[in-house]
Formats: sequence, C-alpha cells, structure tokens
Amino acid sequence: MGLPSMSDEQIELLIVKSKYIGDNDAEFILHKMIYLRCCDALIENEKIRTIITIIIVSILLDQPLVTQRNHIKSLYKRFGTEANKSKANLAKMKQDLKTVELRGQGYCHLKTALVERIAAEEMALDSYAEEQSLKNNHCPRCVSTLGTEMSINCDICNGTGKIAVTMGDAKAFFNELDLPYTPCKFSSEYWSEILFIVSELQIK
Ligand SMILES: [Zn+2]
Repeated sequence: MGLPSMSDEQIELLIVKSKYIGDNDAEFILHKMIYLRCCDALIENEKIRTIITIIIVSILLDQPLVTQRNHIKSLYKRFGTEANKSKANLAKMKQDLKTVELRGQGYCHLKTALVERIAAEEMALDSYAEEQSLKNNHCPRCVSTLGTEMSINCDICNGTGKIAVTMGDAKAFFNELDLPYTPCKFSSEYWSEILFIVSELQIK
C-alpha cells in the first residue's frame, strides 16, 4: 500500500493526462491521490470517501456524473447542431404526414412509410443524445460558440461551457448508492469538502 501523496502541481499533470490523452494509469493514480486527500480531510467512512473521490474526479475531468446524465441528455435533445438538424427533419416529415393523411385511404402505404421514418429519426436523436451524455459535460447549447457573446450569456451553463455537478446531483448519487447521510451533514461537510478539494486542484 502507501503511495506518497503528491503536490497540487503533480496532480494537475495527472488531470491533464487523464483529460486530454485518455491516460488510464494517470486517472487511476488521480483517484488514489484524491482518496488520500479525503482521508486528510477526515471524511470518516471508507465508502463515503470512495464516493466523494468519484464525484471530485468527475468534476475535475469534466466527466458527467451518472445522476446528471438524464439532464444532459435532455439538453442534447433540445440544443446542439445534431438536434437542430434532426428537429428540422422531423418537422418536415410531420408536415408531409399531415398532407398524406388529408389525401385519404389510397395513401396508406405512404403514411406507414412516413410514420416509420419519423420513429426512426426520433430514435436516432435519442441515441445521439444518450451517447453524448455519456461522453462529457459540455454545454450542448453553446459549446460550439465558446468565447463569443452567445456563450457568455448562455443561461444553461451560466457562461461556463459546462453543465456543472450540483449539490443535488451529488446527493442523488449518494441516494442511488444507499449511503447514509443527513441533508445538513451533507451540505456542511461533504459538499463543502468536495468544493474545497476541487478548488485546490482545478486547473486555473
Ligand atoms: Zn452554455
């Protein structure tokens, strides 16, 4: 056992390697180092230290927490280039479907084909959003316009370009894992410790 603890600068390097070149060894060591910080912070329960480590690493690496995924997925369905293309396609096909329906019985096969195409397009959009929600926490509304006025004024991410992990997401993660905590202890100890460790290590 016993990895020596690292300086903030060394940990920053691990973050860069994990985040940008997908270095799994670096990510593994990063988990260990954050875990050690949780021990230093006197987070008493081993299971809770492990979970807090996962939350901190996910914030540092811009990886969506499992409890954020539905929210991020719903944003990808509303915004983003693919969603816009897909929604334009759907609107056009739905319009065509109305026209075909007005023509009556003789166009049954055409109606069936259109209904199938619409369902396929909706499924494709859903899978795309699902896939994106697993990858990262970038804001689908403004990620392609970062640095511009639109991204600065984006009310989805408050101009950060990222869908941040909230205390609610972290709490929901605890709930999913059936971990014991009281709401007061959670915000006063765990959440503030998470924010503190992140602020020490987040690349400025
Ligand atoms: Zn945004």
